[in-house]
Amino acid sequence: MLADDFRLNEFSPDVRVDTAKASLKEELLSEHAHAQNMYSVIQRHHGYKEKLGHAYGDRCAYCGVPIGCIGYQSFQIDYIVCKNGNADDRADVPTGIDSIENLAFACVNCNGKKHDFTLTELSLPLLSPDMDLGTTFVRNDDFSIEISHEYAGCKPVRAFYDRMHYGSELRRIDYLIASLFDLDQYVNSNDELGELASKISDLLRLALGSLIPRRNKSSIALIA
Ligand SMILES: [Zn+2]
Repeated sequence: MLADDFRLNEFSPDVRVDTAKASLKEELLSEHAHAQNMYSVIQRHHGYKEKLGHAYGDRCAYCGVPIGCIGYQSFQIDYIVCKNGNADDRADVPTGIDSIENLAFACVNCNGKKHDFTLTELSLPLLSPDMDLGTTFVRNDDFSIEISHEYAGCKPVRAFYDRMHYGSELRRIDYLIASLFDLDQYVNSNDELGELASKISDLLRLALGSLIPRRNKSSIALIA
């Protein structure tokens, strides 16, 4: 069974991004009361970027690939509404472009692909990782991603799909890797499995140890 959110699988941990980001905001404000720019506070001070990652379940806000699969150095802070967009688009973020509400945790692949993609008042709810992104697209049984039926004719959604290369083979491989990784975490946290847990875990780690280096070296990782 695939999850309702295309970025997750049935073994992904439950995460409430909104409440996690709200408590991170509280912490940031208590320690940096006069800071105007939360992006630079998170970037400059040790530990905050990790906490932003925790808010997203230690995985990419746009594709769901876990830190544990591709490494923390492969993650960046993303502006949900592009910093260099026009004034109207920036006005769609009432808390400010540099506020925590407008920041997400993204893998370099997604952040690089998204780059200066413009989110408008219309497309923001559909494409924001903190809003409906997870259901604007769907995950098929073969792990490929497609646009949900409801938005098949929506031009900004199609443009985002193409920009993010959601149809690429890398997205399928990353989902397989994320599923094996999350299953390993799940198996290890389930006491009822007893000795079986370590046997399953050994196999999963063998598979991941073989898949991840191939994924990272593969030409599809470079072009996808
Ligand atoms: Zn990603």
